[in-house]
Amino acid sequence: MKDLPARRLLLVHAHPDDESINNGVTMARYAAEGAHVALVTCTLGEEGEVIPPDLAHLAADREGGLGDHRIGELAAAMRELGVTDHRFLGGPGRFRDSGMMGTEQNHRPGAFWAAGLDEAAGHLVRVIRSLRPQVLITYDPDGGYGHPDHIQAHRVAMRAADLAADPAYGPDAGAPHTVAKIYWNRVPRSVAEEAFARLRRTAPDAFPGIAEIDDVPGVVDDALITAEIDGSAHAGAKTAAMRAHATQIAVDGPFFALSNDLGQPLFTTEYYELARGVPGGDDGSREHDLFAGVPDEDLAPGAQA
Ligand SMILES: [Zn+2]
Repeated sequence: MKDLPARRLLLVHAHPDDESINNGVTMARYAAEGAHVALVTCTLGEEGEVIPPDLAHLAADREGGLGDHRIGELAAAMRELGVTDHRFLGGPGRFRDSGMMGTEQNHRPGAFWAAGLDEAAGHLVRVIRSLRPQVLITYDPDGGYGHPDHIQAHRVAMRAADLAADPAYGPDAGAPHTVAKIYWNRVPRSVAEEAFARLRRTAPDAFPGIAEIDDVPGVVDDALITAEIDGSAHAGAKTAAMRAHATQIAVDGPFFALSNDLGQPLFTTEYYELARGVPGGDDGSREHDLFAGVPDEDLAPGAQA
């Protein structure tokens, strides 16, 4: 057991790689500033497609083994971001990647999508009550783009935040804790449009094709954005972390592609919508610190991990 720093940030993601794509600069920034940054990943991403030909045998429809391989990729990515606390919900392999919506994998035994909400959330309650984070980051109710594991990660995170705060829940699961602020991952539509225009203008042939804006998770009207984290100082760390997920991501300069070979922008400023809690700014402008407005009494060190 060790005492944790005063500021504590928890991220809940579906698969290894989602954290680096969505939150790489945010995680690197807060880790560099000395905050405690903890990542909970809900599955091993066993159903992912594999980009490098020499690793193609790891795919679930071939020899398998991709989940174990991605444990190593995630660990390497976390080293790039300076994040030392990363865990799998219920332990590695407890919940399995559910595949894309509508596939038979959705309902396979152990699939995260098929898991009981309170059973899955119960694992996260213990993490929340132990680390006592002031800020939680996860997806919006659609999981950003409708992947069943992303939708389920959202549901589990929101449910666990409720249960963790409920004094009547789980007397053996630690003292109740209320997360002060919950953010959903977002991308402002104007930023996405501008970045895709730059991709078409400056690197039209970098990838076999170019993705559509709707392929980018979490794109919404700019007015919904409440916080932005400028990561220019940590763009290199984010890029390196994404490269560490080599089975899933091909990076080319300020752009990247997933296994569909469609180029898309690599965002080095990350955006959020405050879904729960009180915004830190008093003038309605965007926050530039996710801990803004958290009361001093909630920023005491002393939680233990
Ligand atoms: Zn994912």
